[in-house]
Amino acid sequence: MTPIVEVDHLSKRYGSGTFALNDVSLNINEGEILALLGPNGAGKTTLISTICGLVSPSSGTVRVGGHDIRKDWRAARRLIGLVPQEIALEPFEKVIDCVRFTRGLYGEAPDDAYLEEVLRSLALWDKRDARTRELSGGMKRRVLIAKALSHRPKVLFLDEPTAGVDVALRREMWLVVDELRKRGVTIILTTHYLEEAEEMADRIGVINKGQLMLVKPTAELMGEFGKKQLTVDLY
Ligand code: ATP
Repeated sequence: MTPIVEVDHLSKRYGSGTFALNDVSLNINEGEILALLGPNGAGKTTLISTICGLVSPSSGTVRVGGHDIRKDWRAARRLIGLVPQEIALEPFEKVIDCVRFTRGLYGEAPDDAYLEEVLRSLALWDKRDARTRELSGGMKRRVLIAKALSHRPKVLFLDEPTAGVDVALRREMWLVVDELRKRGVTIILTTHYLEEAEEMADRIGVINKGQLMLVKPTAELMGEFGKKQLTVDLY
């Protein structure tokens, strides 16, 4: 099976500083959920941003659906949905309009039947006419996911989907990811929390100081290292 994302010897150095990414190679298969686990400043956001074509690498290549993210940006970008760490929504717009608008930005023809499916899968259909400023933090994050899915991408990137949220909201996000998994969406997410990676992901990649230390199936990694040792090694 050809991987949906192929990362080959990717490095990134901001200016003349240290390497935020250092020779990272990684493949992601369709339908899989991969968690990138690492402490502050490890390089998680840089890796996601470089894969998505928002940051240019110092060296190395990324292919999404076989398209080089630098050389064939438009084709690759169509296959990508990105949910950034910060919540930025137009406060006075209705949920449904936000999602329609994002779909339009991709040049896609309107498809309200598909958008209904997306909103229902995120338990947002009943809120479709609410203004985004009226929503709870958890719902706002779900609107961001709906926007990221609006053009039917093949792979969804979630950058710290539970950053700064309480335990209840974290659990809610885990359920959302589980629902997306059932629908066959390929997901790459970043997190600081081992238990979260363990809960959601098929494979876990541990990243620290710009290096991908290891990538393993979740059960194998937990069996081999155990929670305590992995956390001690990381932090
Ligand atoms: P966090 O969990 O805190 O979001 P992270 O693992 O996502 O961290 P990055 O944000 O990718 O890590 O940062 C990796 C390194 O690159 C850090 O040392 C950071 O200071 C540096 N860095 C990130 N963005 C820039 C930038 N635009 N200019 C200069 N240095 C940057």
